[in-house]
Amino acid sequence: MLYDENNIFAKIIRKEIQTEIIEETNDSIAFYDHAPKAPKHILVVPKGAYISFDDFSQNASEAEIVDFIRLVGKLARDAGVKDTGYRLIANHGLDANQEVPHFHIHILAGKPLGPMLSA
Ligand code: AMP
Repeated sequence: MLYDENNIFAKIIRKEIQTEIIEETNDSIAFYDHAPKAPKHILVVPKGAYISFDDFSQNASEAEIVDFIRLVGKLARDAGVKDTGYRLIANHGLDANQEVPHFHIHILAGKPLGPMLSA
């Protein structure tokens, strides 16, 4: 599968689509999910053209990975949910129902989130 340069997150990264940016680093960007599944629902996205976790974990540089992972942790701390708890989700591919083909992690928090999956 080739990376789709016109996916919605690529457009947000290029600032072709306006959204409220929570934080941006050299290699990563974070913004709110427009259809939140919890009171706090943040998307953290590497700026590089990585389709999914599989692509990112194999092909991103160590600097990009460190930047991304540290930003995920910082955003959760800044959101004030470190003590109450939060869930990280990265959907890869069809069975996970990945909608946007640009790697991202969801930070979900703000209420008890229940079991990990409903069977
Ligand atoms: P996934 O199924 O992991 O690919 O999740 C994609 C997420 O992106 C969904 O939760 C959508 O609500 C969210 N989303 C799609 N387009 C936008 C957008 N323009 N701004 C913010 N969130 C978006």
